[in-house]
Amino acid sequence: MRFLEVEKKGLAQIKSQNRIRIFSEILRQQPISRTQLETVLSLSPSTVSRIVEQLLKAGIVKESGTEPTAIGRKPIMLYIREDAYYVIGISITKKRIVFGLMNVLGEVIEKVQWSTIAISRSEELLSTLERGINHLLLTYSISPEQILTIGIAARGLINKETGSILYAMETKEWIPVREHLNQLFDCPVYLENNVAADLKAQYMQDSVIENAMVYLYMDEGIGGSIIYDGKIIDGQSNMASRFGHLTVIPDGNLCSCGKRGHLEAYVTNSLLIEAYRQQTQSSCSSVKEICFAASQGEPSANIIIDEALRKLAFAISQILVNINPGTLVLYGELFEYYQGVIDALKKEIDKLVFDEKLYQIKWIIRKEHQVQVEQSIAKLALEWVLV
Ligand SMILES: [Zn+2]
Repeated sequence: MRFLEVEKKGLAQIKSQNRIRIFSEILRQQPISRTQLETVLSLSPSTVSRIVEQLLKAGIVKESGTEPTAIGRKPIMLYIREDAYYVIGISITKKRIVFGLMNVLGEVIEKVQWSTIAISRSEELLSTLERGINHLLLTYSISPEQILTIGIAARGLINKETGSILYAMETKEWIPVREHLNQLFDCPVYLENNVAADLKAQYMQDSVIENAMVYLYMDEGIGGSIIYDGKIIDGQSNMASRFGHLTVIPDGNLCSCGKRGHLEAYVTNSLLIEAYRQQTQSSCSSVKEICFAASQGEPSANIIIDEALRKLAFAISQILVNINPGTLVLYGELFEYYQGVIDALKKEIDKLVFDEKLYQIKWIIRKEHQVQVEQSIAKLALEWVLV
């Protein structure tokens, strides 16, 4: 990043800002000529020519050859070298950390996945992040200066101002991810909630999403996001759309937050698997298996799924009444593998809401293979660092 860094004061700042503007413009529009850069960025030919020379010298930009044509010489076109810079996208969930390495053109080079089951404390998470990034850099002989930006998408709460994440609800410990990585790698670190990262990269530019969209996921926990008018609604304390903590049974089961009766105290993947194991004495290990058993008519599987859908319908009907979205996106094995899940949910929701228009909306099931959070966050971080 150092070469493109904005220097602190005065003329130097303007110069280095122009450097970033030119770099960004070439990356977005390539191939592009010097003359086109002058026009688009309203810069003088001498400024463009000087900065392009610097970028060529630093090995960041490359030129196409000139060809003589009937009407004269074609202009020399400029490209960003794909190995000039790299972007690292990291997705942190309760079970794993996924490290993605992308070149500056957004092409995926590597994806490494590590378990985080043993991690709960701040130092452990920070050192795992550090080891993962260093592993990628060493494997591909990339120097730390070549990291343009690091994007981190994490489960749970994110404080974008301090750059810290509340990784484990139980510890109530805010982990200073950005500060730590800034010290080590000297590049901008972009933080986002994992769901928001997935949604932003996937749907933000998607103009077909009508006014409000709600996303609900169910995996090791339950969460989601609300997009309204093209923006993620975070709420006053970044706590909007914590759907896992909607009350579905007053004074019911104990939730991870310490209170009772929340959705997450009833339907997470591991709770469903555990219930099914107990009922059937089987060694079931996924919700997908329960869905399959249910479709074969296995009674325990059907009871567990029906009960889960009923709890989900309680929560979804509250969401629908509060937000009245045009689109509802569902993510999780239960939604992906239980046949007829949308109709089953609609049937339950119909018993609860005052008007069927609330659920006669667009329902989308987002499948696991479509979700590549480490790529989404890398894409967002790159977009954020460019001007
Ligand atoms: Zn709770």
